[in-house]
Amino acid sequence: MNQSKRVEILSRLRASNPHPTTELNFSSPFELLIAVLLSAQATDVSVNKATAKLYPIANTPAAMLALGVDGVKEHIKTIGLFNSKAENVIKTCRILLEQHGGEVPEDRAALEALPGVGRKTANVVLNTAFGWPTIAVDTHIFRVSNRTRFAPGKNVEEVEAKLLKVVPKEFKVDCHHWLILHGRYTCVARKPRCGACLIEDLCEFPDKTEI
Ligand code: SF4
Repeated sequence: MNQSKRVEILSRLRASNPHPTTELNFSSPFELLIAVLLSAQATDVSVNKATAKLYPIANTPAAMLALGVDGVKEHIKTIGLFNSKAENVIKTCRILLEQHGGEVPEDRAALEALPGVGRKTANVVLNTAFGWPTIAVDTHIFRVSNRTRFAPGKNVEEVEAKLLKVVPKEFKVDCHHWLILHGRYTCVARKPRCGACLIEDLCEFPDKTEI
């Protein structure tokens, strides 16, 4: 795909949603970090339901530690993998208190050192809590980048590197959310909704649908 098409795609996505953000509910970097940690292999809706009850009781590392693993489990038991997630939440809170003064570090290596936090989660936190121009490649972004040929790659690392190279600076902070939302609602996994797609004429997917 050539660069002028990419710019046109990003311009259209921006015009349709000028201020995109995550669908996870949060009101601090700590709440976002925990919500992203809980969201692995779970829907944002299910995470929001759980955190709506959890955060009024515990939205700091100290308060979360006071709940303990069992207390956290009780609040997140409707979310997949809740046992290991509760353990990771508690371990993460302990590290935040012991090593970062109870704050979420604005630092990639420090974030990736937290239990249950990989590159994708660190990218989401750096981007969404701190406004870094990072692009967290999840399953939606991977699919959209490859289908459209916007930033094709064999694995998430390749797609991330390509996106960071080809996305112009003015679009970088929000690109991650535009591509996720496009993949979640239009360029869906099984049958993309090409007939309702606002970048259909620019997309290079050879098997477009009419729906
Ligand atoms: S035209 Fe179809 S395949 Fe291309 S981005 Fe839109 S929904 Fe996805």
